[in-house]
Amino acid sequence: MDVKANPFDDGDAVQKLGPLAERSEEYKKWLLGVLRSNNCHRILDAACGTGVDSLFLIEHGMDVVSCDDAEAMLSYARSEKERLELKDWVVKQANWLTLTEDLPSYEPFDAVLCLGSSILHLVDLPPALTLHRKCLTNFKKFLKPGGLLLIDHRNLDSMLDRGVVVNRNVYHKDDTLPSVSIDVIEKDGVRQRVDIIYDMVVKCEETGKDKIEKVTMPLAPVHVNTFSSLLKEIFGPNCKYSLYGDLNLQEQGDTENTVYFQHVVYECIRE
Ligand code: SAH
Repeated sequence: MDVKANPFDDGDAVQKLGPLAERSEEYKKWLLGVLRSNNCHRILDAACGTGVDSLFLIEHGMDVVSCDDAEAMLSYARSEKERLELKDWVVKQANWLTLTEDLPSYEPFDAVLCLGSSILHLVDLPPALTLHRKCLTNFKKFLKPGGLLLIDHRNLDSMLDRGVVVNRNVYHKDDTLPSVSIDVIEKDGVRQRVDIIYDMVVKCEETGKDKIEKVTMPLAPVHVNTFSSLLKEIFGPNCKYSLYGDLNLQEQGDTENTVYFQHVVYECIRE
């Protein structure tokens, strides 16, 4: 299978991934809680997709700039902007790898978000993680001193180490959990990626009936500790850092029961 640079840049992506739009109350409360408790008001949603988190934050009084690489996702966000007459909502195409060129002349933000397990969709190889390093370095450039980067990803430890997918609804409403399977792809004994295969319910164009379609998303094979070490390296050894598992603070990543890890890392306040 060829790994496309961004599988979301597909006209059907929004339809196929529609259930992603339905966020759980627990998720919304957590997101707002992290941002409000850190006095964040000006937000860059760097993986906005259809704009689901951005719209929620705008509704709660935040000032949001949203970007994403995939036009297919952005066109949905833009149609929502128009429908809701949100003149001040900025929606831009930008790639994390070229963020400073794609979003020139923006005032720094209180928070940069990269949510929905988006970062793993940029397939990259540990331990170097050259592409992820570049993205995280770019996200940091958009933060005010003391600002925070909130970035999450699926628990891949369970898949890589035990071949098991922890699959529970944490982010989405209960009736939207697609079943998933995985395929860990190796070459010359080195893990190249994890293909995560979702059984999505889509409408059949001819019959109008629901049918199951398998959607494969290639993910970077990254362990939680590798990712947190990379964040700490980029933000500096003295940076403030917290790890959450399924929206609860964790001392160490519980790789057995967690569906998603959330990392919060702060740009050091300069003296
Ligand atoms: N945060 C949204 C979208 C998650 S889907 C949500 O939770 O619903 C992952 C998103 O990451 C997609 O919209 C995809 O286009 C975006 N993405 C993947 N690689 C990217 C890159 N290199 N630069 C910018 N966006 C990227």
